Amino acid sequence: MTLLGAAEIRALAERLDLKPSKSLGQNFVIDGNVCRKIVRTAGVTSSDIALEIGPGLGSLTLAMMEEAASVVAVEIDPRLANQLPITAAAHSENAERLTVINQDALQLKNLPVDPTVLVANLPYNVSVPVFLHLLEILPTLRSGVVMVQAEVADRLAAKPNTKEYGIPSVKAAWWAQVTGAGSVSRSIFWPAPNVDSKLVAFKRRATPGDESLRKEVFAIIDLAFAQRRKMLRAALSSRYGGSGAAEAHLIAAGIDPTLRGESLDIHSFCKIAQQGLES
Ligand code: SAM
Repeated sequence: MTLLGAAEIRALAERLDLKPSKSLGQNFVIDGNVCRKIVRTAGVTSSDIALEIGPGLGSLTLAMMEEAASVVAVEIDPRLANQLPITAAAHSENAERLTVINQDALQLKNLPVDPTVLVANLPYNVSVPVFLHLLEILPTLRSGVVMVQAEVADRLAAKPNTKEYGIPSVKAAWWAQVTGAGSVSRSIFWPAPNVDSKLVAFKRRATPGDESLRKEVFAIIDLAFAQRRKMLRAALSSRYGGSGAAEAHLIAAGIDPTLRGESLDIHSFCKIAQQGLES
């Protein structure tokens, strides 16, 4: 299959009269080799149902179609969603492997198939909420690779006690093991973005608890990082009825109340939440 290069991406955009939208994060990959490398890094196999969010003009989609049994692509922009099956048919003998859904990924509730792997160059302004939303609603997604803004990649893969560690790191850790998977040059995009990009790989693991525990844990995480320099006993005071009560709660959960949220891994947040549910 021939993949899309710079000339074809520009020609497609011209034909659609598409001025890439900043607010939709429309920076299209113009290097087919990079797309193949991303799909290889994601370990997509012929038994996979691959999910792509924001297929755009189809650069990554075509590379995914080379490897996966089928591809489902969710695109918010109707012009791009309508064009993609036409582009796929022009480049692939297996265009029927592709299903395009014209929808906002953040509003997605389910899909007509159960995807096993995610490969996406995510729209940068919504990359974290989209990533967390997909992990939440699509339990069959076992692994994948996403391209995001470099700082966001560092945050998603961060470990406790680092300056990058925060809400995205600890919430993602509820669902999956997340690791950095390399940098991507700005020159592979049209238009070139004014931020750097990185790849992040994830592997789903068993969640530490059920949905009611997750909701409690995520609420505590939000409070703990709302003012990240505050000690936990102060940061969680509103939830437990004052800093004295929060201190007692944390001690009962086996967590030092003078720590800050940035020192706690997902399991420590679970201990705090479980204490809340049990008492
Ligand atoms: N995958 C293509 C590529 O690599 O060339 C395009 C990636 S571009 C960074 C992001 C894409 O996501 C755009 O096509 C944009 O229209 C789409 N998009 C933006 N917000 C979206 C959303 N909330 N749901 C689904 N797609 C979205």
